[in-house]
Amino acid sequence: MDKIFIVANWKMNGDNQFNTQLIKTINQNVHENKAIEVIICPPFPYIDQINRLKSPFIKIGGQNISEHENGAFTGEVSASILQDMKMDYVIVGHSERRQIFNETNTMLNRKFNLAHQYNLIPILCVGETLDERKNDQTIRVIETQIQSIIENTDTSLFAHSIIAYEPVWAIGTGETASPEMADEIHVNIRKILTAYKLECATSIPILYGGSVNSGNCQALFEMDNINGGLIGGASLDSAEFIKIYQTVEDLNK
Ligand code: PEP
Repeated sequence: MDKIFIVANWKMNGDNQFNTQLIKTINQNVHENKAIEVIICPPFPYIDQINRLKSPFIKIGGQNISEHENGAFTGEVSASILQDMKMDYVIVGHSERRQIFNETNTMLNRKFNLAHQYNLIPILCVGETLDERKNDQTIRVIETQIQSIIENTDTSLFAHSIIAYEPVWAIGTGETASPEMADEIHVNIRKILTAYKLECATSIPILYGGSVNSGNCQALFEMDNINGGLIGGASLDSAEFIKIYQTVEDLNK
């Protein structure tokens, strides 16, 4: 894999002053580096602010898009709007969207396709709950999440997509999957893609998300099948986020 992705999911946090400080610190520390892609996903109203302030070595992503293309959908934000705002990526199917906002695999399939239609790279999140893990359903759950997209899309689109494995029990909890545990799931995701004859099965970036921080990121990112991280809490702490970035820089030396 030739690139490590560091995706900052700011969720519903921040304000003008906080964001300005955070992005300025990130700018000062992120260098041009073809082997590292830093993607900031701010809340929608701050996209323009971050676009104006960010260095050219940083990309921007949305945290979500509407399943509808455009029209009378009050409060929604479409893929075409994100494209117009010069965004490159969008998170699709974050577990908070699946659980709190009842997003189904069918809805996420539409979002995945709309992202591609408007030249956004979807970061498709998959992962199991604690109960599902305890009941040995992890692989079955992830397979269902991926299969529902594969069966309703042009599978060649996966070559321009990213998958993020995010065990729900590890998000915002301080609990992290061990590097070996996460790597094993990533291998299984590649096996699922191979079973569906996707040519990108071995090359698609698969990120890990779930309480990644500066202390655990090196061991995670050293694993063969972990191609970076989707980072929530630690992305709002400039010192933490920079340490994660520097760890990735050191791994690439
Ligand atoms: C996330 O928001 O996708 C996430 C993994 O959050 P955290 O790093 O806080 O667990």
